[in-house]
Amino acid sequence: MKEKAIVYFGSTQTKSASAEYSLASKFDEIINKLGIKDVVKGKRVAIKIHLGSNLGYTTVHPFLVGRLVKAIKTAGGSPYLIDIIEQYHTAIDRGYTPEVVGAQIFPVAGISDNYFIAKEVKFKNLEKIEMGGFCKDAEVLIDLSHVKGHNTVGFGGAVKNLAIGCYTQRTRWALHRTMQYDKYWDKEKSKDAEELVKVCPYGAIKYSEGRLRVEFDMCNQCLRCVHADKDGCLKIQPQNFLSFPEAMAITTQFVLSHFDEDKRFFINVATNITEYCDCWGFTTGNILPDVGFLGSSDILAVDKASLDLLADKPLIRENVSRNLEIIDNPKLHPFARIHGPWKDPYNTIKFGEKYGLGNSNYELVEVFPAGPEQKWPPAYFPDPVSNV
Ligand code: SF4
Repeated sequence: MKEKAIVYFGSTQTKSASAEYSLASKFDEIINKLGIKDVVKGKRVAIKIHLGSNLGYTTVHPFLVGRLVKAIKTAGGSPYLIDIIEQYHTAIDRGYTPEVVGAQIFPVAGISDNYFIAKEVKFKNLEKIEMGGFCKDAEVLIDLSHVKGHNTVGFGGAVKNLAIGCYTQRTRWALHRTMQYDKYWDKEKSKDAEELVKVCPYGAIKYSEGRLRVEFDMCNQCLRCVHADKDGCLKIQPQNFLSFPEAMAITTQFVLSHFDEDKRFFINVATNITEYCDCWGFTTGNILPDVGFLGSSDILAVDKASLDLLADKPLIRENVSRNLEIIDNPKLHPFARIHGPWKDPYNTIKFGEKYGLGNSNYELVEVFPAGPEQKWPPAYFPDPVSNV
């Protein structure tokens, strides 16, 4: 059994309503505990963040980013923020400016999305991956992620932030196309493909010019189409879904390979947990209660701990969008209950382990723990109606 990775946890549960024990203080303490300040002196430090998109504002708050930037600068480091080109252009609308966060912000592969380092790979349709040059140029990497649901892979956290967010648009689309690689429709058998289109409540089946395509990103594996398929021409099968988390592990591995183990840090912000990825360009209500902040020097430990903390939390049903179907199966993680069983968020961990990204066996160390609930003596509150 491998030694456990440490995950520092700042819970939303607090000992007292005070600045000292507030979430921001816990965020600062996690930075201290991780030892970030010990390694950044004289170094270029890339903070990989999701800057959100369009009307989406439940990303990592610029205030917290500023706290991290300040800590790095105080310790003598040179921090800068990176994200994909699409999010970069409108980041200012959501409060991410150098004046607010205290550091420059760059598109990870440059202003033309063409500054990258490439690697040849062999996985389904994936032959080459292009990692942004502004990520490669850093000497220390801080992966600062917002935890949320994700319609392609169930969940977005530390792995997804690097796997998708450190790459050119070409690579990101290629990752999505891995889901199409395994054959799922038999044209020879199919007599009435348009009927299958009608049966999908999510609009995930497209048919044109004699070709049927399932948009697996939108599919929640309800299997209504398979039950309606009288020709036996359509398969909805796990491999089309599992290719994406496996491809993510491949791209994450390449990012991590550029940084010494003591020069990479992972912080997950598990508040404002929405149903979709921040790239969708809007914010919905929170679908799970806030749990707090987590930090580790192990990418799998921080993602696994985030998922475990959310696993027994109740879905906030009234905040789940009406276009999503809640699967009432308590064996499923809450993210899989809205995105489908084959989008089990733990697939990120499973493939992360396969590609040696880290150690999912962890120990949770709480910073400024709230301690046990108060046991109050009997109280005699006045009745607000009678005033006695
Ligand atoms: S399994 Fe359900 S969601 Fe997926 S394509 Fe078929 S009908 Fe649509």
